[in-house]
Amino acid sequence: MRTIEHLIAGHSGGGAGRTSDVFDPNTGQVQARVSLGTSADLDRAIAAAQAAQPGWAATNPQRRARVMFKFKELVEANIDALAHLLSSEHGKVIADSKGDIQRGLEVIEFACGIPHVLKGEYTQGAGPGIDVYSMRQPLGIGAGITPFNFPAMIPLWMSGVAIACGNAFLLKPSERDPSVPVRLAELMLEAGLPEGILQVVHGDKEMVDAILDHPAISAVSFVGSSDIAHYVYRRGVEAGKRVQAMGGAKNHGIVMPDADLDQVVADLSGAAFGSAGERCMALPVVVPVGDKTADALREKLLPAIRSLRVGVSTDNDAHYGPVVNAAHKQRVENWIQTGVDEGAELVVDGRGFQLQGHEEGFFIGPSLFDHVTPDMQSYKEEIFGPVLQIIRAPDFETALRLPSEHQYGNGVAIFTRNGHAAREFAARVNVGMVGINVPIPVPVAYHSFGGWKRSAFGDVNQHGMEGVRFWTKVKTVTQRWPDGSALPGGSEDGGPSRIQDAFVIPTMG
Ligand code: NAD
Repeated sequence: MRTIEHLIAGHSGGGAGRTSDVFDPNTGQVQARVSLGTSADLDRAIAAAQAAQPGWAATNPQRRARVMFKFKELVEANIDALAHLLSSEHGKVIADSKGDIQRGLEVIEFACGIPHVLKGEYTQGAGPGIDVYSMRQPLGIGAGITPFNFPAMIPLWMSGVAIACGNAFLLKPSERDPSVPVRLAELMLEAGLPEGILQVVHGDKEMVDAILDHPAISAVSFVGSSDIAHYVYRRGVEAGKRVQAMGGAKNHGIVMPDADLDQVVADLSGAAFGSAGERCMALPVVVPVGDKTADALREKLLPAIRSLRVGVSTDNDAHYGPVVNAAHKQRVENWIQTGVDEGAELVVDGRGFQLQGHEEGFFIGPSLFDHVTPDMQSYKEEIFGPVLQIIRAPDFETALRLPSEHQYGNGVAIFTRNGHAAREFAARVNVGMVGINVPIPVPVAYHSFGGWKRSAFGDVNQHGMEGVRFWTKVKTVTQRWPDGSALPGGSEDGGPSRIQDAFVIPTMG
């Protein structure tokens, strides 16, 4: 049985203790084991990072960017193999795996421009003979703790920007699909990154706690479920670190009476069920405004849902594959039962779905609920499976209130032909990322990604300029030079030719 090892100081190995099973969700079989690291493994990685980081920070930003250019080339050349590896551990179809890698690569493309975005600010003559300038400097050693659902994109969101800024970066990927993160780190080394600048340490809570407590780590970026995100945020901040911790989601799609319903149904099929609903920007709640809209939408949704093809991740015709493991399958099916018990109408039941020849795989058919209400637990919590809930709203104001008052505030979408309604909605909704006739409004890499409320703890988003701000600290220099010191005719010893005025803090007075 293959063991997936840490990648420390450029070398694979080191795990001699506990392991965790890595499944192939298509077959339900264990295909590998991953080492679960300890604080001793972390210490080795920290030592390598400490040795390498000063030299990397001193490498000029253009040379750092060149590693990113080369890495992009290598990932593109290996994308088929990476996508198959990703699908074999996660279960998403190959096209989705390629999308996962591509969205991560777009952050690398942003990082290729790091010399430009790292430029500081400069004010000449902020006071008499006084200039002020600022520079962005790396933090030192940062760590990323990532979820199972985007094993390529999310590690690249963090590591691409952190490394391009001059930091060393330790990645603790999800133990459920750890192979692609290791492969990406190997490709970074092949692209010319010095050993110790990107390392992978595997593990569970023990490794996460070691990271959060380690005094040599200055910043932690986390993405995962909300309770863990909150825990990571609190413990990391308590230890004096900079922490950003993205959590769960329950994104709503508001459907106005004037929306193009055929388009909405096509969008919802992908956004609610694609990747088996295991996306933090999935759209698992649809809010039709008015009963007429709701009835018409439901009628059109039914044949679309029935025509969804669930298959193995290598099936090119499949809309989505299995969920990640048996425990998660059970969890999703339990939520479906909770919805039934709470009195929602289960219009399509995806439980008990079996794929011929893959009876042990972790497949779930698509499910549709209607007449869901805001007090239901199955509405309040994240299901993270192929389950779409219809919650009917009598008017725009009620529809606006539902996502605004929900505990999560990651993404939201409105479908309408009315520009005024869309504009009002975008301005007033209490959610971090908004789509207008766009079902999954994941911002492009040079903007930033981040939700509100229990979808994100901390102040700074992922990637784009927000990422640069997170992975650097600002140093501001106020300077004045002795008058004439370097000019011909200055005093013989090169010192000031006259006493300068006492320093006065520049004010606007
Ligand atoms: P998870 O919270 O179970 O795991 C995330 C990471 O935390 C993993 O690396 C895991 O090893 C670690 N971890 C797990 N239990 C821990 C514990 N008790 N103490 C310390 N660390 C622990 O999340 P997941 O199931 O891998 O991912 C799915 C979740 O991530 C969903 O809730 C989804 O919405 C969320 N997510 C959010 C975003 C976002 O940007 N907001 C993006 C993707 C996924």
